[in-house]
Amino acid sequence: MTVQSNHPENPDRNPQEITLPGTSICPGIAIGQIHLLDVNIYIPQDPIDAEQISPEQERYTQAVDAAKQHLRNHVASMHSDSSIETQAIFEIHQAILADESFHDLVRNCIEQQGMCAEFCLNQEAQTVIAQFNDMRDPYLKSRGEDIRDLAQNLLAFLSGEPQGHQHPIQATDILVSRHLHSSEVIRIHQAQGLGFACESSALSSHAAILLKGFGIPSIGKIETLLASVDEGTPVILDGDRGILIANPSTQTVEEYKARTEAAAHRKAPTSPQPCTTSNGERIALRANIENPEQAKLMLAHGLEGIGLFRTEFLITPGGQVPSEEEQYVAYRSVVETAAGRRVNIRTFDIGGDKDMGLACRCTGRNPSLGIRGIRRHLMVDPDELRIQLRAILRASHGSDTALLIPMVTTLEEIAQTKQILSEVKQALRKEGVEFLDSIKLGVMIETPAAAIATRDILSMVDFINLGTNDLLQYFMAADRDNEQVVEYNDPTNPAFLWLLEFILAEAGKTGHEDDVAICGEIASNLEMIPRLLRMGYRSFSIAPVIADAFRTLCAEGSTK
Ligand code: PEP
Ligand code: MG
Repeated sequence: MTVQSNHPENPDRNPQEITLPGTSICPGIAIGQIHLLDVNIYIPQDPIDAEQISPEQERYTQAVDAAKQHLRNHVASMHSDSSIETQAIFEIHQAILADESFHDLVRNCIEQQGMCAEFCLNQEAQTVIAQFNDMRDPYLKSRGEDIRDLAQNLLAFLSGEPQGHQHPIQATDILVSRHLHSSEVIRIHQAQGLGFACESSALSSHAAILLKGFGIPSIGKIETLLASVDEGTPVILDGDRGILIANPSTQTVEEYKARTEAAAHRKAPTSPQPCTTSNGERIALRANIENPEQAKLMLAHGLEGIGLFRTEFLITPGGQVPSEEEQYVAYRSVVETAAGRRVNIRTFDIGGDKDMGLACRCTGRNPSLGIRGIRRHLMVDPDELRIQLRAILRASHGSDTALLIPMVTTLEEIAQTKQILSEVKQALRKEGVEFLDSIKLGVMIETPAAAIATRDILSMVDFINLGTNDLLQYFMAADRDNEQVVEYNDPTNPAFLWLLEFILAEAGKTGHEDDVAICGEIASNLEMIPRLLRMGYRSFSIAPVIADAFRTLCAEGSTK
């Protein structure tokens, strides 16, 4: 049991104030009340008479129409700056709601089983969800989640309380879930929820990356969370320290309010803020971003540039790959926001856990070990790579832009990519298009084979970025998103720490230690940062919201 009762001896404290320890996902303070995300909805099990069948079917049809209208209104009122992934999720939901064959199943059930609409809807939805869950294709598998969401929506409409199970998220809500799902994170972002806490420990999952990208104060790995709070429980979420304080006393609330007010008065820096250790070593700090909007966070947090732009998030979950022109606009906007600071643009890393809908379709039996990242481009879709390289090169004109290649395993892949890059450059020259001819080329070190080949790789490219989220999962043979093996994905494992030391030592043998950066989540993990500094790492790409905490840790720590 990890729940701690606070200050039992202090009469100013609320006797019920409890602190639930967890692990910070994204720093920041939120003061509000709990809103449970995955509550169990009551499903009526009522039989109906023969003469009620037709009105019951009609009641179901009306609920479907109301849900469709609700979704249409929602889409129409969405901000034009809503991310592509958010818009696409709603598109998928609209498509599922429009599927009459599912609704026919529910109406048939009402007639044949003589049961109420709620019972039949739940029964048919569970059957379809189970079918999706059995599918190998991760894209189709994840559609089961959409069916679950929609069934819950329809149940709420049937109950006559469309806001029922998901009463609208209030500006004071802190969302709580057992799980850590990307769809939930997008919902929280869209509804401007204050913060998020969960029991899940999949802290290098994409949902966790999205939480940081959206800057939503959040904590994971709170073991007894759902047993400790209820809907409406007042809480303080302290994402800086990774704790959730339930039923805080007035004094605790006042202390936290003072902290948040002081933070709000701090001015955003206008130039990159130096990051220096106590013994005076300079540390390079750049930002990880998932969409062009987030480039502003790099400025707001005083970072030196974009260390990793995960461009695959420009692809909709439905699988729509942006055109060359759309990509150019996205990359150029980041380059212009960076105004001369370095921007590392990674080519699409699709496959594995990042199924990106129909854009992937090359999953195999074990997608993470299948056609993913640069393999997909070279083996399946070199034209898509050419288009992306054209867009990046065009956007690079007059800037300090670099290219990053994901999921590299062999030197041959690098040679092939360089060949394609030189062909694309040649074509642009012929067309008289201006671009950064000296654009730097970097490689993500994400597979053990690439890590061991560090020296050879550095002889072929300008720099390497350690993608430790994948490097750890492939090194430990433990899926980064699978909560059952989360214990294996431990960056403090001695063998993994040895690998990190090995990579830097190998780079150093040819004087390339300055061409090595870490951009995986361990660089945003406050417990890992001092270790990485002691190992000799000096360049990091982090979730922008971590920047202040990172600088403080550096200033307090020494690299000796
Ligand atoms: C990584 O694997 O560490 C990484 C930065 O890439 P991604 O998380 O996008 O797979
Ligand atoms: Mg990766």
